[in-house]
Amino acid sequence: MSATPTTPSSTEPSSVLTPDVVIVGAGPAGLRAASELAGQLPGQVLVLEREREAGGIPRHSDHPGYGMRDLGRFVTGPKYARLLREKAQDAGATILTEAMATDWAGPRSLMVTSPQGRLRVDARSVVLATGARERPRAARSIPGDRAHGIYTTGTLQNVVHLKHGTVGKRAVVVGAELVSWSAVLTLKHAGCETALMTTSYPQSESYWLFHRPGRMVFGTQVATRTRVTRIIGRPRVQAVEIEHLDTGRRRLVECDTVVLTGDWIPDNELARAAGLPLDPGSLGPLVDTALRTDRPGVFAIGNALHPVDTADIAALDGAAVAEHVRGYLDGRRPAPDSVRLQAEAPFRWVAPGILRAGDPAPPRKRLLLWTDEHVAAPRVVLVQDGRVVARKRVPWPAAPGRVFRVPSDVLDHVDPRGGTVTVGLDR
Ligand SMILES: Cc1cc2nc3c(=O)[nH]c(=O)nc-3n(C[C@H](O)[C@H](O)[C@H](O)COP(=O)(O)OP(=O)(O)OC[C@H]3O[C@@H](n4cnc5c(N)ncnc54)[C@H](O)[C@@H]3O)c2cc1C
Repeated sequence: MSATPTTPSSTEPSSVLTPDVVIVGAGPAGLRAASELAGQLPGQVLVLEREREAGGIPRHSDHPGYGMRDLGRFVTGPKYARLLREKAQDAGATILTEAMATDWAGPRSLMVTSPQGRLRVDARSVVLATGARERPRAARSIPGDRAHGIYTTGTLQNVVHLKHGTVGKRAVVVGAELVSWSAVLTLKHAGCETALMTTSYPQSESYWLFHRPGRMVFGTQVATRTRVTRIIGRPRVQAVEIEHLDTGRRRLVECDTVVLTGDWIPDNELARAAGLPLDPGSLGPLVDTALRTDRPGVFAIGNALHPVDTADIAALDGAAVAEHVRGYLDGRRPAPDSVRLQAEAPFRWVAPGILRAGDPAPPRKRLLLWTDEHVAAPRVVLVQDGRVVARKRVPWPAAPGRVFRVPSDVLDHVDPRGGTVTVGLDR
């Protein structure tokens, strides 16, 4: 990668970098893509990370549960982040931290703010690996006082594990999915008891494997079919009011801490700024099975596409995209014909959302879906032009709060020159 200094002015970048590939985001997806691509290309592979340290969410998710599908073992989040960081660096990737890609300067050119000043990165290919975040309180429209002591799991773990700060003594956790139990663990580590978890669903969204021992170990009750209707307290939270969705009965739960978990939104600012088509359900960029976005040479991977799956799945997207990026740089271009895959209720989104003639299977030969309903024995059905093109019984449940993965051979009989394909359930 060459760095060309330019004459500084208020609008001009202080230097221009020209890597072969720029990867935006140094989480599991971006770091794995970097370690696969670095050393395989004539030019540099540059990773941009806006935080002070590369590694993404696992950096502050200090409990075991990372790495099974990609590394073949369970490690803690911080260890997983370190292993992926080292692999990328050992492969020869350059990781620039405190470097935030803020806008586009061309089809594959990005403007970046960094401690070195404003940079322009002119790459031959761009990989968006910007991840997803939990919606904060304002976006969830929870009424009540503007109190201290309200976190998302991400901000909680940042305070506790990275800044070694303190939280309260008694918490209500909004949500009962996998990430919610991660919040409970962090609260325990910080000396804060979890008084209650709430979920609008009729049962806890996390795997039985997690919520049954979780309830036993932490003594935490899960209030199903409930929602938080008010946060009370000033300057700090003193209680939350929760409502039962079926009876309308309301009650107060005393607490000094509230953790809002789940309810994900992709970090999609760059995709929006590029005008890339987004999936209306996930709000992540629409990609085909080779993880190409609508803009030639721009790819997207990880939880930016599927908010949210586990870290190993994000990392394996990174492994898969490498071949497609190399293909693009070698001049390979996709077939012009494509069909749109569209999620039908109870599914909210399906990723990838585009299928092209002659393209490979998606990463891990799986379609990823998000369901709003618990279905114990789902039979997935694909319909194109009024005709059922696949019907498949999947031997695991579809459950809200976690990605439902479907073998991609359901796509085998889709006509890539036909109409939109709906992916729903055979009831
Ligand atoms: C609390 C919690 C607990 C979890 N527990 C587990 C678990 O036990 N096991 C498991 O497998 N998974 C777990 N997960 C999920 C896992 O962390 C994610 O699947 C994984 O981190 C996704 O990787 P990613 O690379 O797609 O995104 P991220 O890890 O979110 O990384 C994206 C990176 O992009 C950077 N970025 C974004 N925009 C820009 C920009 N414009 N410029 C520069 N940088 C940018 C961000 O700063 C971030 O570092 C957990 C998640 C949470 C929140």
